[in-house]
Amino acid sequence: MLIGPPGSGKGTQAARIAERLSIPHISTGDILRAAVKAQSPLGLQVAGIMAAGGLVGDGLITDLVRDRLTVSDTRRGFILDGFPRTASQAESLDTMRPPESFLVVLIDVPDEEIVKRMSSRRVCDSCAISQTADAEAERQGCPYCGGNLLRRPDDHPDTVRRRLATYTETCSPVADYYRRRPSFAAIDGVRHADAVTADVMECVARLRRD
Ligand code: AMP
Repeated sequence: MLIGPPGSGKGTQAARIAERLSIPHISTGDILRAAVKAQSPLGLQVAGIMAAGGLVGDGLITDLVRDRLTVSDTRRGFILDGFPRTASQAESLDTMRPPESFLVVLIDVPDEEIVKRMSSRRVCDSCAISQTADAEAERQGCPYCGGNLLRRPDDHPDTVRRRLATYTETCSPVADYYRRRPSFAAIDGVRHADAVTADVMECVARLRRD
């Protein structure tokens, strides 16, 4: 699993690692955003919380992940991105698979860098790729597919500050929960995305060997 503050690059890295290892990328944020877009009962339930930068309830998100992990594509492994986000979620996860089977990589990025990154993060409304865009790049549209580049509603500066505060309060205990395990590694996320990917791949290989 990849853990770290919002905007640390977990989503980008998780997608890359999942592709390289041919295993599914399970992002709770993506699942919830798809539900909001589809206006499903789940989406209607969580839309307000997400827009305000809060966390959806532990019970709801844990059931969602538990269900997802029953799908057969997870048998050879999977990447979790955005879950667990509270100590209670981490405890629940340990009941879904043997605790020692999880490899945990923390992507470390300081707060100032997060606020800077998120204020310029845009997501394509067509291919869903996240990217950094200035005003000109935003006007030109997605360089991958030509779609519109939009700011995620929860990337507005006030919401970012709220999400960071939430992270410090509830998610830092998640890092503490795993920190003493032999299968835990922390890496510096303030580097080019390719260097971070190489580091994550190296950690995964090392933690699998140990
Ligand atoms: P993310 O894309 O991971 O930043 O998630 C976007 C939003 O989805 C978060 O700000 C939360 O509102 C919600 N969310 C995603 N994962 C979780 C989780 N594990 N627990 C609670 N809320 C979550």
